[in-house]
Parts: sequence; C-alpha cells; structure tokens
Amino acid sequence: MRLIEEFQHRDKVFDFMMPNTSPALDVGQGYLLYLEDISVSFDGFKAINKLNLYINEGELRCIIGPNGAGKTTMMDIITGKTRPDEGSAWFGQKINLLEMSEPEIAQAGIGRKFQKPTVFEQQTVFANLELAMTGPKGVFTTLMAKLSSSQLDHIDHVLGQIGLKQQRNLLAGALSHGQKQWLEIGMLLMQNPKLLLVDEPVAGMTHQEMDRTGELLTSLAGEHTVILVEHDMDFVRSLANQVTVLHQGSVLAEGTMDQVQSDDKVVQVYLGE
Ligand code: ADP
Ligand code: MG
Repeated sequence: MRLIEEFQHRDKVFDFMMPNTSPALDVGQGYLLYLEDISVSFDGFKAINKLNLYINEGELRCIIGPNGAGKTTMMDIITGKTRPDEGSAWFGQKINLLEMSEPEIAQAGIGRKFQKPTVFEQQTVFANLELAMTGPKGVFTTLMAKLSSSQLDHIDHVLGQIGLKQQRNLLAGALSHGQKQWLEIGMLLMQNPKLLLVDEPVAGMTHQEMDRTGELLTSLAGEHTVILVEHDMDFVRSLANQVTVLHQGSVLAEGTMDQVQSDDKVVQVYLGE
C-alpha cells in the first residue's frame, strides 16, 4: 500500500472507532455489517454464492444451515481470513472489509470466537482477561505492568458479564468446558468489539450451561452486535431472534425460528441432510 493510501485508510478506521466525532457516520440508520453478492470458489466449487447479509447494530443474529452450507467460510470472509472473488463487504458505512488485512479488521472491532476454547490454561481467569486486554505486548510485560483503575474496572465488569467473578483466581485449566467458553467470550469482550462472531458455543455444554450462554449472548446484544453460528436448533429457538438459513453458500430463508422452520425450502434441505 502506498503511504498516502495507508494514511487515508487509517483515517477511515479512526473515524469508525470515534463515531461521536464523525457526523458523516450514522450506524443507527445503516447496517453494521453489509455483505452483498459475495461469492468465493475453492477449486471451482462455489462455497459462497451471491451471499447477501445485512446485520443491524445491536442485533443478535443466528445463522443456521446444514454442514457445508458456507457458515464458516462466511465468517472467514468477514474477518479477512478468506478473500471473496466477488462482492462487497462493509463494516459500518466507512470500512471496506475487502481492503483490510485480518489484524486490521480485528483492530477495527470485529472479534471472533472459534469453536474450541483457546484459553491460557496455566494462567488464572483474571490473568487471561488481562492478557486479552493488552494483546501483543507479551505475557511477561503484561503481567508485570500495573493496571490502571479503569482497566481493573473493565476486567471486573467482564468477570460479571461472563459469570466468573467467583473464579477470578482459579487457573483457567480448572474451569469446566462451559466456563472456558465464557472465559473466551470474556477475552473477546476485553477488546471492546463492536461485532462478535461466535461459532457453535454450546457444543458439548450441559443444559444449564446452555441456558447461561443464552443469557450471556442476549445480554451482549444491544451494546454489541452478535452473529452466532449454531447447530443446536433448540438453543437457537430459545434465543427468539432473527434467524438466517444458509444453504449452498446463499441465504435460503430469513425470519423467526417459527417462520424459517415452516418454510418449505428449509424443510426440504433439512430432510435431505
Ligand atoms: P459450514 O461451516 O456451513 O459447514 P464451510 O464454510 O466450512 O461450511 O464449507 C462450505 C463448503 O466449502 C464445503 O463444501 C467445504 O468443503 C468447502 N470448503 C471450505 N473451505 C475450503 C477450502 N479452504 N478449500 C476447499 N474447500 C473448502
Ligand atoms: Mg463450519
């Protein structure tokens, strides 16, 4: 990237991160995430095929669809891991995701939680959140540095959100599977993402943990925007949100869980699985 472009580009990112100082930006009226006519092929196979997805600020959107529908590939495109062959992808009205690298997209406020928890097992819950806040500074520097009171408040707040206040001094390795998943969501929250992408968080959880996860995701919506890819239909139904059904790389149906489950095209696809 030439220097001038680099600066223009940084300006765009900066404007987006400072919405109050930027009158041109009105995310309230526009979409927070706007994917249009996105296609990508792997060895001639169209994994994503003219995909359109529009997510409002503060929404909790569930994405369902059979195996191979393109759910993970869609997340890869949003986070910059995979480049589409065609289409547009905007984060707010100013950030063109297709012009940004993976770290730049993360920096601009898109956080992703992968299926498997990847917490630092040998560190306490507290230290995991602390490390997630400061990022690439290095473990040693981070753990030796003194936290400011606002940083401590932020960690406290997140501990409350993820329901791990009591466990703050436990080693992460001692947590249950569900608690590890929450901790990892907490680690994302330490970076204040505007948009959180969460891939099948309840796989392997107990019913109680699933309920708690539902509450957590619901509580995050509003302040954050959440895209949840999920296989567990009962869980998606319990969230009572807008659902998008993906199939063969495109949107097959959209609506409430009741609406999409009574859609003939959706019934066909799931019966055929
Ligand atoms: P889902 O997450 O909905 O199960 P994926 O996005 O993982 O679906 O995959 C969509 C399709 O694209 C699948 O048929 C998969 O085999 C194919 N695919 C995904 N990634 C690649 C890749 N890197 N190379 C080749 N094919 C891929
Ligand atoms: Mg997948």
